[in-house]
Amino acid sequence: MAFEIPRRLLLEVVTPQKLLVSEEVDEVVAPGSEGFFGVLPGHLPFITTLKIGELIYRKGREERHLAVSWGYAEVRPDKVIILADIAERAEEIDAQRAEAARRRAEERLSRWSRGDETIDFARSQGALQRALTRLSVASKGR
Ligand code: ATP
Repeated sequence: MAFEIPRRLLLEVVTPQKLLVSEEVDEVVAPGSEGFFGVLPGHLPFITTLKIGELIYRKGREERHLAVSWGYAEVRPDKVIILADIAERAEEIDAQRAEAARRRAEERLSRWSRGDETIDFARSQGALQRALTRLSVASKGR
């Protein structure tokens, strides 16, 4: 039996709070923990964990950007399911809040590098990554 390549992908982005995206799309690029990966219709199935980063999906010529944080992705030939702790669209992001979070995280990391042992390095780095991702997604506008 010939294997038919599906024409589109159903993208579902789910957080513990809500179903953020459920759309037919042409392409998805997501921040896997081993690096970004791209999915086109017909991709071989796999499962991977995600890190903090930008998820991009394309519908025709239109690209949309989301900030996602931790979770996992399940890829099938006709479907991509993203289960993330946090996922935000550009228009939901408060850029001033993200900018303040970036400054706080950078200040903590600088104190850590000067030997301040009260600073939790991994936590500060996570906060910085989230803030930078939000700023980048917010700057894309949508
Ligand atoms: P902050 O220090 O500003 O709280 P954070 O990175 O510690 O940032 P998170 O723990 O990642 O915040 O998120 C907590 C909740 O706040 C989530 O629901 C997240 O969507 C929301 N949130 C955090 N930062 C922003 C932002 N800049 N704009 C909109 N929502 C945000």
